[in-house]
Amino acid sequence: MKKVELLAPAGNLEKLKTAVFYGADAVYCGGFNYGLREGADNFSYQDLKAGTEFIHDRGKKIYVTVNMIPHNDDLKGLDNYLDDLEEIGVDALIISDPGILKIIRKKEIDIPLHLSTQANSVNYASVLFWQELGLDRIILARELNKEEIKEIDNKTDISLEMFVHGAMCISYSGRCLLSNYFTNRDANRGKCAHSCRWKYYLMEEERPGEYYPVFEDENGTHILNSKDLCLIEYIPEIINSGVDSLKIEGRMKGIHYIACVTSTYRKAIDLYYQDPKNYKFNKDWFKDLKKISHRGYTTGFFLDPPNQDSQNYSSSAYQRTYDFMGVVRGYDHKKNEALIEVRHKFFKGDHLEILKHNGEVKKEVVNYIINEAGQRVEAAPHPKEIIRIPVNEKYEQLEVVRREVKK
Ligand code: SF4
Repeated sequence: MKKVELLAPAGNLEKLKTAVFYGADAVYCGGFNYGLREGADNFSYQDLKAGTEFIHDRGKKIYVTVNMIPHNDDLKGLDNYLDDLEEIGVDALIISDPGILKIIRKKEIDIPLHLSTQANSVNYASVLFWQELGLDRIILARELNKEEIKEIDNKTDISLEMFVHGAMCISYSGRCLLSNYFTNRDANRGKCAHSCRWKYYLMEEERPGEYYPVFEDENGTHILNSKDLCLIEYIPEIINSGVDSLKIEGRMKGIHYIACVTSTYRKAIDLYYQDPKNYKFNKDWFKDLKKISHRGYTTGFFLDPPNQDSQNYSSSAYQRTYDFMGVVRGYDHKKNEALIEVRHKFFKGDHLEILKHNGEVKKEVVNYIINEAGQRVEAAPHPKEIIRIPVNEKYEQLEVVRREVKK
């Protein structure tokens, strides 16, 4: 049985490596232009070259987004950019605009093409249209249920990709003018201001300055604020729907998110293929996914149309049960100490979890901290500082360290 691909986001080179170490089969990233996440670090030419080499050395794949909806001016420089991507040797371009497709064809760029979710493919006829135009994969719109996905797979003959985890837009797979309207930042050109997450009031024209809360219920007024997609409980249904690639959203997300989500889906997918008939969902996976920052979870459109439970009315703030404390940068065999790059303040006596690349979670207690100056200290408050703590076993570069949120 051919295994589905697990596709993880890579907002920068470090996140790319994290995704690969935690089990991604492929990553997608924004290059130095034309992606849809201007807020992500994105890749310079050199980083993209290094990232592509790193990925290919490990037999994985890298896809680059060229999926903005460009205006005339945005097309300036596209020719050179495409030449660079071809020379670097990325494995696919993710596109949505027919004009960009035309330019790619005219230039005879020899890179497989994936159609972005921005193109909103929600039926088999549309998928067949793109198939006939020679695209290699369709990234389905999020607004599809499992029966529709299955029917599209049955009636087409092209690789299909679907989102299984991550933030949802309130609009049609990202085709949104909220951000443009409120902030003049074009979400379709990578500048989304997340206006859908804001708290809204109503103001009557004749009474300027008098704000009336828009009550959904007593909890508040976040009327457009979707929970995050999470389909970890439905791995068999997803695989049986015929899709080829399971995509995790989140090029703007941090290392803890990438490590935790990628390793959790990796475990579920691998367990399913070991013995599909006796596969059982492990409730701990869901608990793990609540350790990272999220806005509450929903199954999106996969089972039923979204309802009132799919929104988060009380707050647009992220919730999480664990803090991301840092990443492992090395291991001292002689002293049994891990070298940790600090991201959150450490204290002597902290109880930590270290998420290993294979998805296992190990517990460690911080019995002492040695700072960069070689002194024993009670706390390590400085982000990016490399500290030493005693550990019970060897940990690898870029393994994630976390601690339960202190109440
Ligand atoms: S404002 Fe919200 S709905 Fe619009 S593109 Fe941004 S995240 Fe999506």
